[in-house]
Amino acid sequence: MAWVDLRSDTVTHPTPAMRAAMLTAEVGDDVYGEDPTVNALQQRMAADLGFEAALFVPTGTQSNLLALMAHCERGDEYLVGTDAHTYKFEGGGAAVLGSIQPQPIPHDIDGTLPLDKLAAAIKPIDPHFARTRLLALENTWHGRVLPLDYLRAAHDFARERGLAIHLDGARIFNAAVAGGVPAREIAQHFDSVSVCLSKGLGAPVGSVLLGSAVVVEKARRWRKVAGGGWRQAGMLAAAAGYALDHHVARLADDHRRAVTLSRQLGDVPGIKLLGQHTNMVFIDVPADRLRELDVHLRAASVRISIGYLPTLRLVTHLDIDDEGIARTVEAFRAFFTV
Ligand SMILES: *Cc1c(COP(=O)(O)O)cnc(C)c1O
Repeated sequence: MAWVDLRSDTVTHPTPAMRAAMLTAEVGDDVYGEDPTVNALQQRMAADLGFEAALFVPTGTQSNLLALMAHCERGDEYLVGTDAHTYKFEGGGAAVLGSIQPQPIPHDIDGTLPLDKLAAAIKPIDPHFARTRLLALENTWHGRVLPLDYLRAAHDFARERGLAIHLDGARIFNAAVAGGVPAREIAQHFDSVSVCLSKGLGAPVGSVLLGSAVVVEKARRWRKVAGGGWRQAGMLAAAAGYALDHHVARLADDHRRAVTLSRQLGDVPGIKLLGQHTNMVFIDVPADRLRELDVHLRAASVRISIGYLPTLRLVTHLDIDDEGIARTVEAFRAFFTV
């Protein structure tokens, strides 16, 4: 039986049609800027999201790191959520590799960073302090779609305070599809945006950093320094291009399945439903039964991630169909009703 793997939307496998697109991709040396498929992907994403330039990179972590290093210099500081991926889940890369100090700000429950808290965290210009240079937001944040009004206000705030503003838009297309707006309507409020092709869009590898020509040139330099200058990456760009053509609108199916999953799990005694946002469902189960639950689910070919976040996060994606949702609900129900 095929796994229903709810650990993350990174676990998808390239479809046969995506693999076919990869096989026939025209390639060249991307360090020389000569890979036509990479160049086409970058131009297309820049045009679609409303930026001057774009850079195709191996991972979202590298994309965010290059953006931070393009906006900030040694001894600068960026404002970031305490639960933001960039701050918490990227090994402290901005500090380790960029000598950029993070100033974490607690999130409101909807994923926004309150502007008054941001304002209070900006340091005076004085040799005692790091120089506050950048505000970094995340959308979606733990599946939550940040309100467009907030993005506009955050943009205006950053402009008034002389800060650049970056979006970790790993799942910007989930936000766009859920909000019924083109991704550029979200992206327009930022100086740079990082987009993952390897999450819900289902490409095997790759993220794209978008920004001005100046920001992207700096990022290209840091990409080489970070060891991310790749060569015939066109085969991967072909997968990304295929994902943009065929896997954006269908994110609505993942969201619909997450709604079904949350409703049905919410009816199972022993499970406390905490919420559902885009392609993520959050539940609490009794901590002392977690290991046993994991073993039980695996026996039904259902995989979840335990012990990584304080609550269980179940993520729907391209490789989970209606049957997989039904099997998951059945497996949970069987465990909690014996
Ligand atoms: C996955 C993810 C990243 C990083 O992507 P990798 O390709 O895994 O390095 C960045 N931000 C968010 C919000 C993510 O979910």
